[in-house]
Amino acid sequence: MTEKKTSRPFERPQAGGALYCGGVPLETLARRFGTPLYVYSADQIAERLAMFQRAFKGRDHLICYAVKANSALAILRLLARRGAGFDIVSGGELERVLAAAPEAAERVVFSGVGKTAAEIDAGLKAGILAFNVESEAELELLAERARRLKGRARFALRVNPDVFAETHPYISTGLREHKFGIDIRKARAIYKGAAKNRWLEAYGISVHIGSQIRSAEPFGAAIERVSKLARQLWSDGVAVKAIDAGGGLGIDYHGGEFDATAKVAEYAEALNLALGDFEGRLLIEPGRFLVAQAGALVTRVLDVKRSGKKTFVITDAAMNDLIRPALYQAHHEIVPVRPRRGKARLVDVVGPVCESGDFFARDRKLPPVEPGDLVALLDAGAYGMAQSSNYNSRLRAAEVLVEGKKARLIRRRETMADLLATEML
Ligand SMILES: *Cc1c(COP(=O)(O)O)cnc(C)c1O
Repeated sequence: MTEKKTSRPFERPQAGGALYCGGVPLETLARRFGTPLYVYSADQIAERLAMFQRAFKGRDHLICYAVKANSALAILRLLARRGAGFDIVSGGELERVLAAAPEAAERVVFSGVGKTAAEIDAGLKAGILAFNVESEAELELLAERARRLKGRARFALRVNPDVFAETHPYISTGLREHKFGIDIRKARAIYKGAAKNRWLEAYGISVHIGSQIRSAEPFGAAIERVSKLARQLWSDGVAVKAIDAGGGLGIDYHGGEFDATAKVAEYAEALNLALGDFEGRLLIEPGRFLVAQAGALVTRVLDVKRSGKKTFVITDAAMNDLIRPALYQAHHEIVPVRPRRGKARLVDVVGPVCESGDFFARDRKLPPVEPGDLVALLDAGAYGMAQSSNYNSRLRAAEVLVEGKKARLIRRRETMADLLATEML
């Protein structure tokens, strides 16, 4: 099997040699496209999607990639061509799906806690599969917009199952205290009410308990509660067709062996068990798991600066390119693209932004690096570029997609003209 190979797309074909993405040396890409540069392996993204497809082969299912993890058009197209649907959270993400793969509109679910009338209209006009509705007021708004456009809106209530999932507090969403979803105890009455509205069709029930969840157990616990609700709804005469289990399956950011196939199998088993005799369609919304490990942020060392006992490795990428370490205390492995001989030592890897929070790693043991060297921040394919900004008036990075031995630019680096384009004096 090639599983191990594809689950680590960034490799050194020769021990002690340079780092590659698939068949392409990162040094070549940095020379061609400059740094900081996001590099993604199309092969791994396709492989990860196939893992989910295989794991749920036995039942009617749809894998709705969570666009917010990485919304590059080329990645959306790649996934759409392989049968994926999409989970979107804004009108902008809908626009991206329509631009990359208009035929996939009917495989789109629309999540998010605050949808505007304009966003709902755009979704209705595009004929998306369903709206994941987060409050009673939003359900009323959806019915009102559907009435105006003279079409029925398919919806799922996003219920809050009150399940605790071990992850960073900023990306945990499944407890009653969180802003997300509708208290699962209130859902039944809302579905019953909606059944009287001719502009609404109760398509399913949805849930999303958080992100970067490593254990399958909380997913199982949430789906158990959701399938119980589905049975109750059926007995009420509300025949929901689908259960949407959300996204959130986590990866290993700390290097080492990571058996993605086994992870997906374990996840599928937990869901299948919890679904019991539910015979409708299963939707899942993985984001991170599909793209995180397929991507790296390649950056050049600008300076190595000693200050007291500390050594700072200053890179040309910064928190505006990859904010996860600053925002979630996230760990990313950092590896020299072409390793030098010599002793590893403790360094801080930081960007040039004027914030002490602008760091990629603190007290990290790193092999020797010198100004001009390239280093790669691994597992940066999800919530990297998608969360980038122009903070400090820095230009956003370029993105490259590698397929086998071929690399192509999928987003050019921003220019100074881009930076000023929307402003007036
Ligand atoms: C963010 C999000 C996802 C994707 O989460 P991952 O952890 O990237 O898999 C899926 N569904 C909803 C509703 C989300 O908000």
